[in-house]
Amino acid sequence: MAAKNKVALVTGSTSGIGLAIATELAREGYNIVINGFGEPDAIEKERANLEKTFGIKAIYLGCDISKPEDNEKMIRDAEAQLGSVDILVNNAGIQFTALVEDFPIDKWQQIININLSGVFYGIHSALPGMKKRGYGRIINIASAHGLVASPNKGAYVAAKHGVVGLTKVVAIEAGELDITCNAICPGWVDTPLVQKQIDDRAAREGKDRKQVERDLLIEKQPNARFAQPVEIAKMVVYLVSDGARGINGSALSIDGGWTAS
Ligand code: NAD
Repeated sequence: MAAKNKVALVTGSTSGIGLAIATELAREGYNIVINGFGEPDAIEKERANLEKTFGIKAIYLGCDISKPEDNEKMIRDAEAQLGSVDILVNNAGIQFTALVEDFPIDKWQQIININLSGVFYGIHSALPGMKKRGYGRIINIASAHGLVASPNKGAYVAAKHGVVGLTKVVAIEAGELDITCNAICPGWVDTPLVQKQIDDRAAREGKDRKQVERDLLIEKQPNARFAQPVEIAKMVVYLVSDGARGINGSALSIDGGWTAS
């Protein structure tokens, strides 16, 4: 279905993968709802730049997706201002690393609330409108950690496995309508979320950043390179295209071979 007058809401699109997804969907002609935290000037610059570069409408709705009532309001505001939410990309997420026995309870709750419950809240609020209009594309940015585990990432791994499970349920429930729900499972992607993990590990192990980057990659990814955010965004563009109508309930890896073994 053509992008014209269709609206894509991308959570966490003020940075990293979400920013690339918003940009690539705008390039395709979708109107865009930007969401996420950041400096107001930088967000306004992003919004204005999307409109000017791609000739689409872009608005910013800055809700905290871990709050169900704010999430509901964001979907309603998007529908009121742009007419619909046809594509929902649940991308916002955070990370915190510690062994299970050392994992602070508040960090566990925060990660589950944002990375898992936030995805549910968004779908819960957007799906009725999609069903009424008979069209929708939901894409959840999970992770290789939605399929396999690593130490120190109990909350993140639990949340991302939950996202893959929820993706399948939504896909089954919406099966006969022109609504699909899929998850993308990236390996290491070069974004601020990962840069922080590199800094933390370099400090912990007393190594320089380059060495830590190399260690991170060769531990997990046979291709030994970080993906760029645009590589994830191009998969989103494919999943919203007509050619991908039959892909539903899938967890699609972009992980350089991480989960192949
Ligand atoms: P990032 O830190 O660059 O961006 C995260 C975005 O989420 C930001 O826009 C931030 O403002 C927003 N955000 C955080 N908490 C929020 C909240 N409560 N409400 C609304 N917005 C919120 O991170 P990224 O690497 O681009 O990660 C994006 C997604 O991709 C995350 O779900 C992450 O788990 C997933 N992912 C990342 C990698 C990677 O290697 N970078 C790998 C696999 C999966």
